[in-house]
Amino acid sequence: MTHPSNPVQLIDRFGRTVDYLRISITDRCDFRCVYCMAEDMTFLPRAQILTLEEIATLGKAFAELGVKKIRITGGEPLVRKGALELLQTLGQIESLHELVITTNGSQLETMATGLKAAGVKRINISLDTLDADKFKAITRTGDLQQVLRGIDAVKAAGFERIKINAVILKDRNHLEVCDLVQYAVDKGIDISFIEEMPLGVVAKHDRSEAYYSSALIKQDLANTFSLVASLEKTGGPSNYFKVAGTQTRVGFISPHSDNFCSTCNRVRLTVEGRLLLCLGNEHSVDLKAVLRANPGNMTILKQAIVNAMLIKPEKHEFNIHEQPVILRYMSMTGG
Ligand code: SAM
Ligand code: SF4
Repeated sequence: MTHPSNPVQLIDRFGRTVDYLRISITDRCDFRCVYCMAEDMTFLPRAQILTLEEIATLGKAFAELGVKKIRITGGEPLVRKGALELLQTLGQIESLHELVITTNGSQLETMATGLKAAGVKRINISLDTLDADKFKAITRTGDLQQVLRGIDAVKAAGFERIKINAVILKDRNHLEVCDLVQYAVDKGIDISFIEEMPLGVVAKHDRSEAYYSSALIKQDLANTFSLVASLEKTGGPSNYFKVAGTQTRVGFISPHSDNFCSTCNRVRLTVEGRLLLCLGNEHSVDLKAVLRANPGNMTILKQAIVNAMLIKPEKHEFNIHEQPVILRYMSMTGG
């Protein structure tokens, strides 16, 4: 249902309605996942990134234009000081139906109850493996047990929906897909498998060699689980299946093998305040410049957002066999 005071006003040239905003609130992270970051990253200086107040203003502007769902992501959103207060502020926007977050789970043990109290409904937690050594190899700095304790903490806090996100890479973790689904079943939570996307140049990691398709994952799972196709959508690009006899849903996000652009309902706000109209293209509008040139002027800000819809591209053009054309990292974009 559309909130009476906030009709949808964000419609692009292809007739797609944009009602979902993802915001990267920091480019920093306590992990260095091989597919996401280089080992020695240089992070942005503070003056270049949006303040928490600016993010809250933008969230409000988007909600007034009919956006119903905001996902807070990063980098690791929960390592930014004041993240919880920002979530509390966004959680008070009445017309927002959903405030959700994507996290690597490292801070959840202590923050789960605070997130629940702030009004966060659903949490996506990245978990690519249940093997502590492999976890260390993929994240470079992460501690598996800390993340597993974090998942138990969000379970105990009683969120509406908890989902694991796993990026599957050939010869790194592709043999673990059944174990990961079994873990989700045991915990009574959902899981989505994501095909790697070519964002940013990451040394010592060949994306075309690491590619492992959703179709292969489905084949691997079919030996152990009975997956029943589900028509359910959660406002994202996942195709869902139910694990027969359980509450667990298994999703597949397949940017290579299943182009989902025709139903795209989202835009992304980078940590620098650039509104990205497509994950796989550079079309963007500098909303930080608009905000800082017109402090307190919601009308101008909202008009800039409405105008931005005119440059939303029709689709992404990922090719894992070529050097990435998209040089920004997922952590800056807000994956
Ligand atoms: N730090 C948080 C986390 O890891 O969940 C939030 C940000 S992270 C960029 C969001 C999601 O993007 C994670 O699930 C991560 O696995 C995924 N991701 C990062 N780089 C990716 C890439 N090159 N291709 C596909 N997914 C990627
Ligand atoms: Fe950090 Fe998430 Fe990127 Fe891993 S995927 S380096 S946890 S931002």
